[in-house]
Amino acid sequence: MSEEIRQLLELQAKDGERYDLLSRLQQLEEEQVRIEQRLAKEQSAVEERCQQLKQLSHDSRGKNLEVDDVDMQIRNYQKRLNEGIISFKEMEALAAKISHQRKRIDEMEDEAIELMDKIEIAEAELVEAEKGLDEQKRDLASRSARISSQILEAKEKLESCEGERAAIADGFPAHLLSHYEGLHSLFDDAVVAIFGGLCPGCKLKLSSTTVERARTETEIVTCQNCSRILYIS
Ligand SMILES: [Zn+2]
Repeated sequence: MSEEIRQLLELQAKDGERYDLLSRLQQLEEEQVRIEQRLAKEQSAVEERCQQLKQLSHDSRGKNLEVDDVDMQIRNYQKRLNEGIISFKEMEALAAKISHQRKRIDEMEDEAIELMDKIEIAEAELVEAEKGLDEQKRDLASRSARISSQILEAKEKLESCEGERAAIADGFPAHLLSHYEGLHSLFDDAVVAIFGGLCPGCKLKLSSTTVERARTETEIVTCQNCSRILYIS
């Protein structure tokens, strides 16, 4: 195998390594984003529970104020009734109002109790959800730290791989390098060993002249169909 072919194969191996490292880096970065999204989702779910609880407490306070209000009305009606300086008809009307408002108060008290029950359940659920969130945060933080160190490691490997590739490419004849790079942008296997008289890239049967030229190693030989660089191993 000629020195040029040997170097081209080395370059091709480095490019393969670089591609794998870039894919790995991309996967790790995507995983990192997924972890952040998951954490944000969990956090907003807990925040939503918190808001629901606030709303329930607000409703409960409102209901109690309403009860106090109606209670005050009943007292006022009762006072006027007790003072007795009104007509019989007015007394009857007041008594009817009192009875109506008492029914309302009973209903509102039931609603207030229902709200308090809901608050109790929501509070217990919030405590559980916050506990769960803390666990999730710890778990996701440790996964995220592990991924960050893997990302760092992959970046260092990528940097040294790129350095090694540059060292191989340095001093390469420019036309050969650009021919290789053009091919490599199309095929992972830009440099291939002739096998059974075929180009392993496009499977074309090569002419005996081409095979012979590759054997003599005096020049760079390419496939007449796909332009891959050929050699005899
Ligand atoms: Zn070919």
